[in-house]
Amino acid sequence: MLCVRAPGRVNLIGEHTDYNDGYVLPVAISLETRVYAQPRTDALCHIYSETLDEQHVLNLADLPPEQLPDGFIRYVAGVAAMLQQHAGRTLTGVDATICSGLPLGAGLSSSAALEAAFAVLWDALDDLRLERLTLAQLCQQAEHRYAGVHCGLMDQAASLLGQAGRALFLDTRTHAMQHVPLPPDWAIVVADTGKPRALAESDYNLRRAQCEQAVVALQGVLGESVVALRDVSPEQGALYLPLVEEPARRRARHVVGENARVLAFLTALRHADTAQVRALMLASHASLRDDYEVSCAELDAMVEACLQAGAIGARMTGAGFGGACVALVERAHLERFLTDAERRYRARAAYEPRFYACDAAAGASLCPMET
Ligand code: ADP
Ligand code: MG
Repeated sequence: MLCVRAPGRVNLIGEHTDYNDGYVLPVAISLETRVYAQPRTDALCHIYSETLDEQHVLNLADLPPEQLPDGFIRYVAGVAAMLQQHAGRTLTGVDATICSGLPLGAGLSSSAALEAAFAVLWDALDDLRLERLTLAQLCQQAEHRYAGVHCGLMDQAASLLGQAGRALFLDTRTHAMQHVPLPPDWAIVVADTGKPRALAESDYNLRRAQCEQAVVALQGVLGESVVALRDVSPEQGALYLPLVEEPARRRARHVVGENARVLAFLTALRHADTAQVRALMLASHASLRDDYEVSCAELDAMVEACLQAGAIGARMTGAGFGGACVALVERAHLERFLTDAERRYRARAAYEPRFYACDAAAGASLCPMET
């Protein structure tokens, strides 16, 4: 019997930057998914999710085609298909059970955790010895092809490459990474507004199109060296963004500013500079609210509640229009913060909030079996 654990993630700063070739700063969190697996002698998989009380059968020698309809098995089938394609052989069948402490569909990337768990499982079982970055890229492909979700690399990278006590700085263009220590006396709180995420695909695609529109306009003045908004410095933004039409101008201003904020945040973290961390998180939230226009009353109320309850900093995290905020909180005040933030949010919003106090966890790994 083998057991694998794979963490969810939350993004500290760098929102809507990943499809602009920009920077992100996720943290793998201590809420995780576990897979318990017994290898078989054939290519069949019986996979049971305790979380959903759902069982599926998969034949690794005859995997279903891409873009499976709904159901968790598409993530597992996708990972198996990508690993098999990469390794050029059929993997070992397993009887497996999935359990999870992660809420599903709450923006903590339970899908990436599920993919990462199976990737690490088969990497060990079939002695593939793949690099973590390769596993992350194969999981990302699985999500693109089998779940039809065109995500960046952030979620899978965080779940597979995270380190305990550290955030993961990722350059989504070059895939360069840095593990950035978090001050040990800071806790990460995920504050779910209870309002379901509702960034419709159409809104998301519209934002992407507006960013591209800004790139084309900026190429007119800055030349072809501007391939994505990542290539525009804040100084260039201040000079040339006024030439771009609204609303693309404001969308681009968010992205250009957000990339700079991620870099500034790295420095602030290194110095445990609470004032600067707070200022950057607040600037990120305001920019997402006013320029990118992806916040909502509940996210704004939650950020406000967290700040008044004494958080070092807080901002919306994830795609927007609902979902969760991330707050950094002094551990010494954590209990009081959680009670106070909840009370303050409830006074402002009609949804049922949930708070998760997390640590920065290590990336997916085999775990010693409990007896
Ligand atoms: P998020 O990744 O933000 O949690 P997604 O919609 O991308 O939200 O992924 C959620 C989906 O991932 C679920 O609907 C389910 O198909 C799959 N999933 C994640 N964790 C589990 C689990 N423990 N058991 C079964 N399916 C899971
Ligand atoms: Mg997901």
